Amino acid sequence: MTAPAFIKEEHAIFRKSLKKFLQKEAAPYYDQWEKERMIPRSFWIKAGREGFLCPWVDEEFGGLNADFGYTAIANEEMEKIGSSLIGFGLHSDITVPYINEYGTRGQKQRWLPGCVSGDIIAAIAMTEPGAGSDLAGIQTSAVREGSCYRLNGQKTFITNGIHADIVLVVCKTNPNAVPAHKGISLLVVEKDTVGFHKGKKLDKVGLHAQDTAELFFEDAMVPAENLLGEEGKGFYYLMKMLQQERLLAGICAQASAERILELTTSYVKEREAFGNPISKLQTIQFRLAEMATEVQIGRSFLSEAIQDHMEGKDAVQKVSMAKWWLTDMAKRVAGEGMQLHGGYGYMEEYEVARRYRDIPVMAIYAGTNEIMKSIIAKRMGL
Ligand SMILES: Cc1cc2nc3c(=O)[nH]c(=O)nc-3n(C[C@H](O)[C@H](O)[C@H](O)COP(=O)(O)OP(=O)(O)OC[C@H]3O[C@@H](n4cnc5c(N)ncnc54)[C@H](O)[C@@H]3O)c2cc1C
Repeated sequence: MTAPAFIKEEHAIFRKSLKKFLQKEAAPYYDQWEKERMIPRSFWIKAGREGFLCPWVDEEFGGLNADFGYTAIANEEMEKIGSSLIGFGLHSDITVPYINEYGTRGQKQRWLPGCVSGDIIAAIAMTEPGAGSDLAGIQTSAVREGSCYRLNGQKTFITNGIHADIVLVVCKTNPNAVPAHKGISLLVVEKDTVGFHKGKKLDKVGLHAQDTAELFFEDAMVPAENLLGEEGKGFYYLMKMLQQERLLAGICAQASAERILELTTSYVKEREAFGNPISKLQTIQFRLAEMATEVQIGRSFLSEAIQDHMEGKDAVQKVSMAKWWLTDMAKRVAGEGMQLHGGYGYMEEYEVARRYRDIPVMAIYAGTNEIMKSIIAKRMGL
């Protein structure tokens, strides 16, 4: 496929060196990580030392001052290795940007260099057992007491939850606010905070090497200086920053769909049935032609959404469309990819099987696809 307009020579160089790094440091170990249900911290450190974490951070704080083209490439290349690497995008391009955007200079100096080097792993905790899509319905409370906030509540499904050194906790500093979302604030909670406990690592259908976890806050005393931005503005910050998270979900879905197409195309050329490669059967050819068409349409639309995001345009509608359509498309492609692999597609040792179980969650996190359609409908004035 031709490179999109935003890809310049320097992006291509970055992609080449990241690919090389991943082939050496991730690909040979990925199956082992999946079995161990964890990506080792040593890999985070290696990625950080090589400049592959948060490359967009200002040079002053250790980054490369890179544009979103680098972010798109980093997420694409990580996804090509396997979806369990989503924790890196969650750290680099979803959580850390809040610190950069809303943090004070002191907060940036304190956390950004470690986030770039891999010494600090970040997570964002919005979801609770009783509230996911309905973010304004969260119960976690932070009550100001002198120079601290007393934090109480529970979070679940938190990506990087086990490794996390800092967690950006979405909480209510004013539980009586009307409307409820006006009472939401963002607190950075450090791992050694008394009263902060990490729960069990959750056993998931896919993303086996991802350390998704529950988090508990029981009278955790968080210094008031860890408040990010202003009290009561958290919901607005989230609504702004969630755009990039949704675009990244689309980028990963697209990369995974492209990989499945590649795997399936080569499999049908090799697999023989009734004396010929199954790729010679017209029914198989048509299905691959349909998959290739969907993947190509996805790439074109995604490039447009990335371009708009990079140009700072209001891309809410397009990003919401990209998020639901690309993740649904990837689910269709994964289903077809598995089917065309026959019984082998159902075996763990075949990559297509892993892709099949990893993809569906993309339609659930970063705002479910139903929520994406609600946003689109609202923007349509419905
Ligand atoms: C592997 C994984 C990683 C995750 N990582 C994180 C993370 O790092 N941080 C974090 O905070 N969260 C994370 N999440 C949580 C994720 O964002 C939520 O699961 C998601 O937002 C949905 O919330 P819920 O599970 O409570 O489902 P619910 O909100 O209860 O939704 C259940 C169903 O109802 C539908 N629904 C709900 N409201 C509406 C509506 N208004 N209109 C139409 N349909 C509706 C939903 O689309 C869904 O199909 C993760 C989840 C998973 C599975």
